[in-house]
Amino acid sequence: MKLLCGACDEAMKFTQAEGPREGSLSVLFHCPRCGHRVALLTNPWETQLVRSLGVAIGGRAVAPEPLELIRTTLATGVVLWTEEAQSRLERVPEIARPLARGSIERYARERGYREITPQVMDEARARLGF
Ligand SMILES: [Zn+2]
Repeated sequence: MKLLCGACDEAMKFTQAEGPREGSLSVLFHCPRCGHRVALLTNPWETQLVRSLGVAIGGRAVAPEPLELIRTTLATGVVLWTEEAQSRLERVPEIARPLARGSIERYARERGYREITPQVMDEARARLGF
C-alpha cells in the first residue's frame, strides 16, 4: 500500500501513527516535496486488514494476531449484554459505569465475543485489572 501526493505524484512519507485506540488506528503521512499532509483513520475492521496485510507503519509492521479472519469478522459485530451481565454492571458505582462498560465491551470485541456474560466480565476484570 502506498499513498501518492495528488499534486506532485510523489510517494507520501510516514509521519506518525497513533493507536490502535478502540480498534482505530490514525496514521499521518506527508509529501516530502510540497509538505501536503494526509491522515489515514482506520475503523476496527480496517485495522485488522492493515494487520493481516502486514503493512509496515513507521518502519515496523503492526503485529499479526492469530485467527485474524475470524476476529475481523466478529470485531465488527455488535456486543450484547446478557441480562445477568447487565444487572451486574448496574452494581458498579454510577460514576465508574461508563468506563467499565466501555472497557468490557472493547475487551469482548477484541476477542471476538458477541455476548457479554458474567464470565466475560470476570475475564475482562482479571485482564484489565479493575
Ligand atoms: Zn506533494
